[in-house]
Amino acid sequence: MLKYLLNVISPAVCPSCEKSRTVYPLPVCGGCYYSIQARTDDADMLREKDPEKIDPDNSTSPLKSEYSCLDYTRAVRCCVKSFKFYGNRDLIPLFRKTIGSYIIRSGLKKQGFDIILPVPLHRSRERKRGYNQSAMLGEIVSAFLSIPAYSEILIKDKNTSPQSALRKSERRVNLKGSFTVVNSSLIEKKNILIVDDVTTTGATVDECAYTLMKAGASSVSALTLARVR
Ligand SMILES: [Zn+2]
Repeated sequence: MLKYLLNVISPAVCPSCEKSRTVYPLPVCGGCYYSIQARTDDADMLREKDPEKIDPDNSTSPLKSEYSCLDYTRAVRCCVKSFKFYGNRDLIPLFRKTIGSYIIRSGLKKQGFDIILPVPLHRSRERKRGYNQSAMLGEIVSAFLSIPAYSEILIKDKNTSPQSALRKSERRVNLKGSFTVVNSSLIEKKNILIVDDVTTTGATVDECAYTLMKAGASSVSALTLARVR
């Protein structure tokens, strides 16, 4: 309530465009908010495993396909951070609209996925934050694709340093062996879609895919809300 009143009396400058004022409870101005929605209509964000386009640092990625709804623009970054670190649930309708529109346009429904697994947080980090933002996105994806999402199958049992603090080459090493499949029989011969909020080098989704393929998955693809280009 106090936050609301302060914002009505003196709204903050939008951290994305630095021109307009933010519209409470959003972390950005109306213009930046709607620009995110508009973006989902024109971008084709499917990254197939085209050998010509494979990143040499990433040539061994076990992912079948990698889908991303948005480019990680300044406005998207402000919204993702507000959702991820401050638990701003008022952004869920925006993400729902963005993900829903992407799923319809990309033909993701026809890919034959069996289950959705959100990228897990280590339990100490999840306890501290109170929620796992990827699990919340996984629920949205699950509703649009009409397939179940499970948060208890793939877990993170090694508490690693935050990826954002590391260089590209260090990210893969940092994550090596940090995920575990709790019950392999639930993922054996399954086509799995993993869901995460943001992908930068792809190290996190790749490591999840390695772990799942080793445990007997038939294929693993990834859907992220935003991708850093
Ligand atoms: Zn703005």
